Amino acid sequence: MSDRAYVIDTMISAKAIAARIEELCREIVNEFGGTDKLVVVGLLRGSFVFIADLVRELDLPIEVDFLEASSYGDSMESSREVRILKDLRGAIEGRDVLVVEDIVDTGHTLNHVTQLLQSRNPKRLKSIALLDKPSRREVDFRSDWIGFEIPDEFVVGYGIDYAQRNRNLPFIGKVRFVADAE
Ligand code: 5GP
Ligand code: MG
Ligand code: MG
Repeated sequence: MSDRAYVIDTMISAKAIAARIEELCREIVNEFGGTDKLVVVGLLRGSFVFIADLVRELDLPIEVDFLEASSYGDSMESSREVRILKDLRGAIEGRDVLVVEDIVDTGHTLNHVTQLLQSRNPKRLKSIALLDKPSRREVDFRSDWIGFEIPDEFVVGYGIDYAQRNRNLPFIGKVRFVADAE
């Protein structure tokens, strides 16, 4: 699959992402204003660019931690069984926590991760995802904040990969396969 030729069409520009992050951060500050410290949890690896931009717009005392859940691997299919490959370094009991994800697709990943973190008795637990594909949902899960709703397209860029490539694109693009002759 990953050796097929493809082009990337821009779906969401870097400018549109930056503007949306400013809006989202105003809402997050409203929600968590007065927190002693917000633990911002990035889901590796896809959220690393989003979390970097997000925390620099968040005018709150924060701490950053990361968690890695099993994902697509190098394929384009979702795995319904979610495994934790790397857990948080810190305890979150009694803490304010914001989970940061790149994309909610079937919903299995964020559903599993938020249930796991909720079982550790945080004070408040919220989630944010840059992208949401509601038409693909298989479990009843809604993120508290969503950057953009998108159609059922395979996207890359802004931290999100295809076979580990294209994470460094500054925008969100959609992958379009082309015939070898093109
Ligand atoms: P879910 O468990 O909600 O089905 O999937 C969540 C994960 O699947 C996302 O965090 C992301 O890693 C991956 N994913 C979903 N849609 C896409 C996509 O369009 N492109 C890429 N590269 N990964 C995706
Ligand atoms: Mg992910
Ligand atoms: Mg991936």
